[in-house]
Amino acid sequence: MFAAGTTAAAGLTGVHWAPAADPPSESCLISGGLLVDGSGAAPRRADVRISGAVISAVGTLKPIRGERVVQARGLVVSPGFIDAHSHADGGWTDAPDLESQIRQGITTAVVGQDGGSATPLETLRRAVRERRPALNFASYVGHGTLRRLAMGADYRRAATPAELTAMSERLKSDLASGAIGLSTGLEYDPGFHSETSEVIALARVAAAAGGRYISHIRNEDERAFESFDELFRIAREAQIPAQISHIKLGSKHAWGRADEALRRIGEARAAGHAITADVYPYLYWQSSATVLNSARDWDDLSAWETSLQSIGGAGKVHLVRYTPRPEWAGRTLAELSTREGKSPPEMLRAIARNTRGPDGSGSESVVVEAMQESDLRKFVRSPLVMFCSDGGPLSAHPRSAGSYPRILGRYVRDLRDIRLEEAIRKMTAFPARVFGLRDRGRVAAGLRADLVLLDTARVRDQATIADPKARPIGIGWVFVNGRAVLANGVMTGERPGRFGTDDGP
Ligand SMILES: [Zn+2]
Repeated sequence: MFAAGTTAAAGLTGVHWAPAADPPSESCLISGGLLVDGSGAAPRRADVRISGAVISAVGTLKPIRGERVVQARGLVVSPGFIDAHSHADGGWTDAPDLESQIRQGITTAVVGQDGGSATPLETLRRAVRERRPALNFASYVGHGTLRRLAMGADYRRAATPAELTAMSERLKSDLASGAIGLSTGLEYDPGFHSETSEVIALARVAAAAGGRYISHIRNEDERAFESFDELFRIAREAQIPAQISHIKLGSKHAWGRADEALRRIGEARAAGHAITADVYPYLYWQSSATVLNSARDWDDLSAWETSLQSIGGAGKVHLVRYTPRPEWAGRTLAELSTREGKSPPEMLRAIARNTRGPDGSGSESVVVEAMQESDLRKFVRSPLVMFCSDGGPLSAHPRSAGSYPRILGRYVRDLRDIRLEEAIRKMTAFPARVFGLRDRGRVAAGLRADLVLLDTARVRDQATIADPKARPIGIGWVFVNGRAVLANGVMTGERPGRFGTDDGP
């Protein structure tokens, strides 16, 4: 079909056909694999044929002449993974092969998270078209980005009606550029200073355009449950599907309450609100150290002290980046306190002042061990919670290189928390449905050929806090829009990624 069109076009114009972004007429047979198709159905023996950028047939298939054949005997063939919360939009233009994401099997990154997005969104769409990343992007519009545009540096207050109108107009135009909804990062500046009513007003604009809402909620530790309630209220009052980003219970006050969190989500769903969540498979988060100060007053030593107590002490805080003293990276806050002869809250105060204060120009990042595995395992098992990496090329957290292999190795194979087909559904068809990616997330004829070949006996993550970029093992082949970007464990250099709705042939 593709070859015929090519010939006709060449004949009409009388010039040689120049390769388009996706060369047509390429046919590839993935033969002999065990298909886990994304729907949640049990694995079954099936061959998969790729023609150009799409899956053209699934079943018992014989190679056709000239066709490339990939032997998948002993391997599981699954849809490419859709990363529900990705920061691959940060730094990808310098590393468009996105190797850490591809090696995990991620074929679509859902970006524009935590309230921050490319602005205008059209710039990301154009960059994807021109620079061609190895994987696909879909993007939210960041509330924090809208707020900064409308309010500038004067954002530590509620928005005025005129500012809200300006935010709504930009949101509408970004939605028209293909954004899938509105994201917030209510624990961070400038979203932290917004009232719930402001978010509801913007969520209504997103809902009117068929969009959805996703949120790094206002607080993930002491006040996690109040923050879930705020998200439920936004979903109810804006009549919008809503997702809790990287759900976690990050303090002593919240530990052990995963069942209760899932029950609350279930109750909101029973009341008619499409609430979902995503989770990454680690017991530690990475962010700014300032997240540890819920008073957001860097001079308030008691605020630092309270949150250190709530996570179990300064030994749980690993400084992974600190530009004023780069050699401190890799040390715990407990070690640094002893060495410098300061209390842990005093150390945190100094770190915040040097990076956020009026004279501070540096940057910092911490990895904090704050979650319980019993809670994580309940989120991993819940059918309402999909998976994410929360990673990207600029991140120093092992989740950036290890999330999906870790779920498949540790939680599926070793701990047997969920069946393989259910884990893969939560990586593929479930996020595709929630994010409106209609032609991705399953293996079926006519859909986009985003595929992963994995060895379930071997798959496992190897990234650690000390070596966060270590490659996973057990994922040998990854196809994006029909092109092999990882072939037999080797990055091919192909960059066939598309932007969200730019899904034409
Ligand atoms: Zn976040």
